Amino acid sequence: MTDLDKLVRPNIREFLSCTNARTEQPTGQFRQIMLDANENPYNKPFNRYPSDSQEELKTQLAKLKGVTDNEIFLSNGSTEAIDMCYRIFCQPRVDNVVAIEPTCGLYRQFAAFNDVEYRPVLLDYDFQLDAIRLLKTCDRHTKLIWLCSPNTPNGNLLDTVEVEKVLKTFNGIVIIDEAYSDFSRQQPFRERLAEFPNMIVLNTFSKAWANAAIRLGVTCAQEAVIDLFNKVKYPYNINQLTQEQAVDALKHRYDIEDWIKILLLERQRMMKAFESLACCEQVYPSNANFFLARMKDAQGVYDYLTEKGIVVHNCFKEPLCDNCLRITIGAKAENAEILGILRYYKPTK
Ligand SMILES: *Cc1c(COP(=O)(O)O)cnc(C)c1O
Repeated sequence: MTDLDKLVRPNIREFLSCTNARTEQPTGQFRQIMLDANENPYNKPFNRYPSDSQEELKTQLAKLKGVTDNEIFLSNGSTEAIDMCYRIFCQPRVDNVVAIEPTCGLYRQFAAFNDVEYRPVLLDYDFQLDAIRLLKTCDRHTKLIWLCSPNTPNGNLLDTVEVEKVLKTFNGIVIIDEAYSDFSRQQPFRERLAEFPNMIVLNTFSKAWANAAIRLGVTCAQEAVIDLFNKVKYPYNINQLTQEQAVDALKHRYDIEDWIKILLLERQRMMKAFESLACCEQVYPSNANFFLARMKDAQGVYDYLTEKGIVVHNCFKEPLCDNCLRITIGAKAENAEILGILRYYKPTK
């Protein structure tokens, strides 16, 4: 890839080169009187700012994710990391980004918020990536390529060989959103950081890790890239409660593995059941905790379900998703309920 320094947005590069990067104050037994940060001495333990290096949590995560502490950046959901990719690398109205289409809507949203041109490239009809076609859309102002695997709303993994082609050929940063990788058996790109200096992998506590409420995103990349994120982030961006709950969740990770197993079995059951529904035309393969179903009349089914108090994701306006609904795998009883209700669906047209 191009020298990392050259990819960084000029104003950020300039600021970082002329200021001392923030460093954390020492903590521990020798520093018990803290009169430096204008905190209130009362209301322990919430009176103090949380750890800004998030060391304990990063150490636990590093072990689990097969990376080092220095290859992890923590954010307020992966959403914050998505926004930061634009802020660190893209100059508004000059640079552009390329992304697969359809995919997670956040990449387009934050391109707009950051005033950066967004270039979607349609996937094949089986939702597969054609690396050459994607790369042809890039020019010298393309800073980022957005990939998501398993992708949403379709749920399948992108072809590894095609993703590797993008990583090896593109001169900028390739972001692989692996929000759903815990539901697939394929080796995640996160475990291949050493091979790709231009790769950023996004993980989250919101899906398989069952902690959407605490808003915690985990970004993995080589140390030089993570360094940039750490310097540009809000101070103390991960609050104390989130850090504590995440450490606690990591202690119960066998629960999470059990939940994943159950969800995968349920996914298989749900997909089979959908295939046999009169109102369903096709079910797409999935490596995630949801699946895409092509219906005969998606709007009709969507309205019917909504009326019964069941909310699914309506994505039939997205490219390649004509008449499609995306259904998240719920608890066993919830899945049984949607299936029961759909068996009574009578098309109106
Ligand atoms: C849910 C989701 C996110 C957002 O994750 P948060 O950590 O909750 O902000 C990002 N990317 C994809 C593909 C997602 O499905």
